Amino acid sequence: MNDGSMIRVDKLTKEYGGNLALDAVSFDVGKGEIVGLLGPNGAGKTTTLRILSCYLPATSGYASVAGHDVFSASEKVRKCIGYMPENNPLYPEMRVREYLQFRAKIKGLRGQNCDHRVNTVMEECGVADVHRKLIGHLSKGYRQRVGLADALVHEPDLIILDEPTQGLDPNQIRSVRELIKELGKAHTVLLSTHILSEVEMTCNRVLILHKGRILAADTPENLQAVMSDSSQVIAEIKAPLGRLRLELEDLPGVGYVDITASDGDYFRCSITPVGGADLREEVYRLARSEGWDLRELRRCRHSLEDIFIHITRRNGEEEE
Ligand code: ADP
Ligand code: MG
Repeated sequence: MNDGSMIRVDKLTKEYGGNLALDAVSFDVGKGEIVGLLGPNGAGKTTTLRILSCYLPATSGYASVAGHDVFSASEKVRKCIGYMPENNPLYPEMRVREYLQFRAKIKGLRGQNCDHRVNTVMEECGVADVHRKLIGHLSKGYRQRVGLADALVHEPDLIILDEPTQGLDPNQIRSVRELIKELGKAHTVLLSTHILSEVEMTCNRVLILHKGRILAADTPENLQAVMSDSSQVIAEIKAPLGRLRLELEDLPGVGYVDITASDGDYFRCSITPVGGADLREEVYRLARSEGWDLRELRRCRHSLEDIFIHITRRNGEEEE
């Protein structure tokens, strides 16, 4: 089977004892996609990634990577995957090059090709300059890069990264994210994170996982569009307060108006529509016809965070 799909997951279920960690999860990842598995702690992200990387058997359901069943063809699957586990375990007493060579040999690389691949991934991941250092002496950001280099050394088509920026400082986060984006040009990437801005910045598609279920799967942009129905308009207007409120509340399609004082005699108006109306033109026409000064007019986009809260809350209510 080769239909442009890199990962297929169908009704994947995992129970730990009596605890249901994954509840009939289904999704696909296409070749070349960078997909983010987004969810709070305990959502089932690590469980999903460990099953896909053949480190953990599922209780039921189906999963394949590059057309190979992860249960019956795990050898083939492992060759296709570069997996960076959560809290990537590295050997602190080994030197960077030594460690990568050791890992490359475990993955079946030999001789010149092994040396060549280790050099290549050290360059790609920006660790060539520390190749003689002990891993235990590296900063967390550098250790993460060594983990990425390890994941890449056998030239896998698919990279699976479990919370790749966990525990890094903001500069390290930025550079690891850039590295992931760069890797995404030549690989399919599935990463997990509980950080919303991470998927917005690095991924083409998001799977929202909550309590072992996929609640939404779409591009970050489309998830935002779903919510645009309730997008507020923000306007800064210089006008007499009483009249401003009356006229805004009177506009067709306006549900609720919140006004606060801003600087320079301006008022900041948050206007919430009823239905899906985009109220910007109405507000502009009103200001123009009244001769009011208008210095800001924009429609608020919901952040992925709003969407996440909206979706998980909705799901929680359904359960009750
Ligand atoms: P995430 O990576 O999204 O934080 P996990 O996949 O680690 O979530 O965990 C999902 C659920 O499964 C959690 O409720 C967790 O407590 C439980 N769990 C994970 N690993 C084990 C395990 N080895 N034994 C028992 N329960 C586990
Ligand atoms: Mg986890």
